[in-house]
Amino acid sequence: MREYEPEEIERGRLLFAGQTEFRLGVAKLSQLPPEYPLEVAFAGRSNVGKSSLLNALTGRKDIARTSNTPGRTRELNYFELADGAVALVDMPGYGYARATKTLVKAWQSIIMGYLEGRPNLRRVFVLIDSRHGIKQIDLETLDQLDEAAVSYQIVLTKADKIKQSERDAALAATAKAIVRRPAAFPDTIITSSAKGWGIPELRAEIAGMQGQ
Ligand code: GDP
Repeated sequence: MREYEPEEIERGRLLFAGQTEFRLGVAKLSQLPPEYPLEVAFAGRSNVGKSSLLNALTGRKDIARTSNTPGRTRELNYFELADGAVALVDMPGYGYARATKTLVKAWQSIIMGYLEGRPNLRRVFVLIDSRHGIKQIDLETLDQLDEAAVSYQIVLTKADKIKQSERDAALAATAKAIVRRPAAFPDTIITSSAKGWGIPELRAEIAGMQGQ
């Protein structure tokens, strides 16, 4: 993870200082809202810590509840910050054992449609549990993003659950896994929602995309 300048951290803090509002859940492409000036999305297998991370980023306590309400787990959930300047898009957690093949296929085509049809979607943050690293199921998502040519960045979660030496190893293993992937952003952000680690940096990363 790179060092961030104090000015970048401050821009990130300011961007997230206001209210974050839940706007809508999108179950089919025709429901997508007009594009926001900047959209960033969050993807990861279920239980990776996505809701906790979104809560930590936005200072809200109930994003988990909003996104995990029955009926919303398979939607793209739109959260809006800074009076609509930025949309945070919570993508459905993948890897549900219960989902049928047909459902998974239907979902993949909606997600592909979303990824390919949103020029202002600047980056997808792909969350990976720092204890487990990138697994086969994650590789499928990375393949999909490479195919759609949507820039993505790995965010390691739950870093408080491992030792410092293991964190360094997790970062090194991640760098190695993505080095030849065309749409992968080279730097990885390591986070702990429980401890607040990496949260200012992730905010700074998003703020840095504004107006570019
Ligand atoms: P989601 O299914 O990806 O939205 O995952 P959740 O945010 O609901 O988190 C799944 C589980 O991991 C919950 O029991 C969380 O309390 C736990 N968890 C999430 N983030 C962290 C973290 O940074 N540190 C620790 N120790 N536990 C976490």
